[in-house]
Amino acid sequence: MNRPVRDLSRPTTPCSAVQTRMAEETAARAAVAGPAPALPEDVGAAAELRAELDEVVDSLAPELVALSRDLHAHPEVGHAEHHAVAAVAELLRAHGIIPSLGVYGMDTALRAEIGADAAAHGEQRDSEAPRPPGGSHPHAPTMAILAEYDALPGVGHGCGHNVMCANSVGAFLALAELSRRRPGVLPGRVILQTTPAEESDTAKEILAQRGMLVGVDAAIQTHSYAHDLADQTWLGVRRMSAVYTGIPSHASSQPFMGRNALDAATLALTGLGLLRQQILPMDRVHAVVDDGGRVANVIPERAELNLMVRSKYPETLKDLVGRVEDLLRGAALMTGTGVEIITDPNTNEMPVRSNGPLLQAWVRSQRERGRDPLPAGVVSETVAAGTDFGNVSLRVPGIHPLIKVTDRDDVALHTREMAAAAGSPTGDAAAVDGAYGLAAVALDWLHDAGLRDAVRADFEAAGGAVDVAGFWGE
Ligand SMILES: [Zn+2]
Ligand SMILES: [Zn+2]
Repeated sequence: MNRPVRDLSRPTTPCSAVQTRMAEETAARAAVAGPAPALPEDVGAAAELRAELDEVVDSLAPELVALSRDLHAHPEVGHAEHHAVAAVAELLRAHGIIPSLGVYGMDTALRAEIGADAAAHGEQRDSEAPRPPGGSHPHAPTMAILAEYDALPGVGHGCGHNVMCANSVGAFLALAELSRRRPGVLPGRVILQTTPAEESDTAKEILAQRGMLVGVDAAIQTHSYAHDLADQTWLGVRRMSAVYTGIPSHASSQPFMGRNALDAATLALTGLGLLRQQILPMDRVHAVVDDGGRVANVIPERAELNLMVRSKYPETLKDLVGRVEDLLRGAALMTGTGVEIITDPNTNEMPVRSNGPLLQAWVRSQRERGRDPLPAGVVSETVAAGTDFGNVSLRVPGIHPLIKVTDRDDVALHTREMAAAAGSPTGDAAAVDGAYGLAAVALDWLHDAGLRDAVRADFEAAGGAVDVAGFWGE
């Protein structure tokens, strides 16, 4: 009798030392990295103004925590964030701000605006046509605060977008309240733009193509995490599918008259496996078989692979995608099948480019709230994922800093543990501290022309605006 070498009714357990060692290495790097760079005291908004903003945020804290908890209790997947968008709209209205709903043809996207270009709070009422940029103040500096609120099927707010939404809405409300107390304190415009479906779509790309960033000079948002971290690698992603077309035939009596689409998909998967040795350490290629035939006694006529290709830089992403496409075609050549490679220009995330001076403003804001964001590079980039904020960050200067929502640094995104943290007191604290952070970054930027110049110069030095919409068509 054959004895299995282990219990084959269940999978093996991944080595827990991986997590332990990575946590130790993070701690060791943090110890030698020193503090993340922060804005000097005399840059940005005046200290007393930031102190007043801090008070305003604290006065809003109960409402921000309630918003975060409400979204947490009503998780909604991408493009179905109806409860969330209604909750945000209601909170804005309670503060005298009338938002536009269903903007840019997206049911659950909301937009509101305050500041120099607004005659009064909530002046923007046309739900289909957001105000063209500029208006009576064509040169008013304009900051967009983006807000995500979609959840994940099965694990609810395992990405902590409820906290992030409270950060962004809270920052916007705090700036609105500050300008009520001190008329004229916003020498520019601040836009709150909610962006649906970060997890399931690339809504920010679609919204950007429809005009979300027209007239916007910079865009900011946070992301929930297990660390306070100024910056982290976010990979670009190209989603694609490969449909192989063969010729069905009887698998026993006439296999020689068939052409096997599943063989092509199998060879493609094998090729991807071999390719992995020759790609950059941070590159990722992953695929599933969506269709591999139906029955064993018919040579499969159709097979479909669904793939994601990721890389750290736009150029390396494009190069890697080219190699994967060659490989997919090669599998068709080997098997005598046809192949169609299908890509959607809208469903690709670009790597995030973080703006140095804006990040320094964020770090200072978080220190003022008793947090100390780790500098970039402390947390291993091997844990990198992707976000459609990348598509924004290559169009205008932006930041996407990470805020700690849990006291356990081994809690990963997209887990039930992260979802629990996002609805706990540590998540509540992050909801308020992040709201101050985004508001302070916006205020610093609006109040200091030199800082705005530095932000723009940093963006240009990193390559300037990229034609993201045309990137894959070139
Ligand atoms: Zn996520
Ligand atoms: Zn997320």
